[in-house]
Amino acid sequence: MADPTALSCVFCRIIQGQIPSRTVYQDDEVIVFHDIHPAAPVHLLIVPKLHLDSLFRATAEHQSLLGKMLLLAPRLAREQGATDGFRLIVNNGPGGGQEVFHLHFHVLGGPRPWRHMSIGR
Ligand code: AMP
Ligand code: ZN
Repeated sequence: MADPTALSCVFCRIIQGQIPSRTVYQDDEVIVFHDIHPAAPVHLLIVPKLHLDSLFRATAEHQSLLGKMLLLAPRLAREQGATDGFRLIVNNGPGGGQEVFHLHFHVLGGPRPWRHMSIGR
């Protein structure tokens, strides 16, 4: 990948197959895998294969990609067992609590209680 940021980006490395992940879905634009430190019984990360730091970097050209990611959330939440509801969280920038600077949507669901952490509040 040409983007030098991507060389050290953990999600780019997962996309490139250099780091293992529990992948539940992928196509040419998006990969979805289980969060390594789940905050709920179902905790998925919906990740674009294109390296974008956060939604701050998104433009109109990413509109259909973002729409695809949004529509995957209810489908995969249900498929993974979060049948009665789910929470969708997108942390953006340090002030938003983002730790991995490759855009991702958290999908949280399943029976409560959920582990107490910032994204689950
Ligand atoms: P955020 O604070 O929104 O940037 O969340 C980053 C998320 O990525 C955290 O919930 C981490 O547990 C998760 N994470 C970090 N490294 C990995 C990895 N190698 N595989 C799966 N999830 C990861
Ligand atoms: Zn990346």
